Amino acid sequence: MKNATQRLVGRRGFLRTAVGAAALGFGGSFWDDATLEAATQNVNRNSRPSQLKITDLRVAVVKDAPMTCPLLRIDTNQGLVGWGEVRDGASKTYALMLKSRILGENPCDVDRIFRKIKQFGYHARQGGGVCGIEMALWDLAGKAYHVPVYQMLGGKFRDRIRGYADTTQSKDPAEFGRRLKERKDQGFTFLKMDLGYQLVADTPGTVTMPAGMIPHELRNTQHMFTGIELTDKGVAMLAEYVAKVREQVGMEIPLAADHFGHIGVNSCIKLGRALQPYNMAWLEDMIPWQHAELWKKITDAIEVPTLTGEDIYLKEDFVKLAQMHAVDILHPDLATSGGILETKKIGDLIQDYGVPMAMHFAGTPVSCMANVHCAAATENFLVLEQHSVDVPWWDDLVTGVEKPIVNQGFVKVPEGPGLGVELNLEVVRQHLAPGEQLFAPTPEWDQERSHDRLWSFDYRMAEPPAAKRQRAD
Ligand SMILES: [Mg+2]
Repeated sequence: MKNATQRLVGRRGFLRTAVGAAALGFGGSFWDDATLEAATQNVNRNSRPSQLKITDLRVAVVKDAPMTCPLLRIDTNQGLVGWGEVRDGASKTYALMLKSRILGENPCDVDRIFRKIKQFGYHARQGGGVCGIEMALWDLAGKAYHVPVYQMLGGKFRDRIRGYADTTQSKDPAEFGRRLKERKDQGFTFLKMDLGYQLVADTPGTVTMPAGMIPHELRNTQHMFTGIELTDKGVAMLAEYVAKVREQVGMEIPLAADHFGHIGVNSCIKLGRALQPYNMAWLEDMIPWQHAELWKKITDAIEVPTLTGEDIYLKEDFVKLAQMHAVDILHPDLATSGGILETKKIGDLIQDYGVPMAMHFAGTPVSCMANVHCAAATENFLVLEQHSVDVPWWDDLVTGVEKPIVNQGFVKVPEGPGLGVELNLEVVRQHLAPGEQLFAPTPEWDQERSHDRLWSFDYRMAEPPAAKRQRAD
């Protein structure tokens, strides 16, 4: 397959010969490269989107961004390349297993392809493959029609996207407050902190816990099944921790809190009430999102906003939580929730119930730009997470946008076609995860075969008439 440069040279060669021959009446050319470049500069060389076909899907996994992130490259028959990204921490297999289902498709049919492959996603990391491909399809569609993604979603509500950031943890609230103050000094207008019971658990009498619990076994135990509860003393110490942080950053800047540890519902309520004087922006994922009724019990019992959503796949569960007013704010991760269009739909649907949409994000600038286009085009967007403020090479992964990408806490909405960024392959190469290659061929995923039906039907109705006749003969 020719790359873009080869195609351009091929067309120039043809033009030079054809125009020259026509003008002079004999073979050869009097057009030099500069003249030809000027004559063809307004030609849209990607001018046949209706003929665009997907020809390949490849992966490059980077590490320490700060997460491990599988980047996607979708190739086409016209030399256009689309970039996408699987959810941070997820397996690249979630995308590669979809390759055989998208080969030969026109990537501009984003919604149709999404509906074809969405059965292969699920909550949390398992949504990453479907969403990563969806991002790359939008990138290709935008490049094919030469418009930024936000424009294809209906246009912009804003030109720059507000970010929120947290920082590394410290059990010393003065030290942690100082680190968070640095984020404010960097220009961030919205902050987040972790507030786990582990901050105070070293002090006797702060936490009740069944004896003999092994921490790593707790990881996949849902919060209310651990038997861990905060005592009044533990609640008071956590509130005091926040008070000391507020002394450093002030009371005015929004300050959210996350990662409370696996505590029960009543501990969540006690802590929420104790945090009310500190003007928290939200309390995040205190219990798993699946327990909507328990979330509503917490939300109704406290006057601090509650939030969940970073592990929910597809719009339906977001709508259910919004209808119930189980939480005050919903928080999709676009690389899990269904990609760019599904997340815009989530925003629009929950807006009808008066619920704002914050956005969780922890990937590279490719996924960041997918978020930025979606946030720009969604009216009830509140704020977008920025997780890579301390990664010095994060900006260098891409070209095509202003640097720093996160400037004074905001990202400017790019105006280039598609997502608006191109990967810097040399920087990607420098940060590949161990054992990973830079977009190596993936022919082993070309032929995977399964009958992907979602309901039962008579297979004879799907048989082409010619085949049926042949069989009868
Ligand atoms: Mg979170």
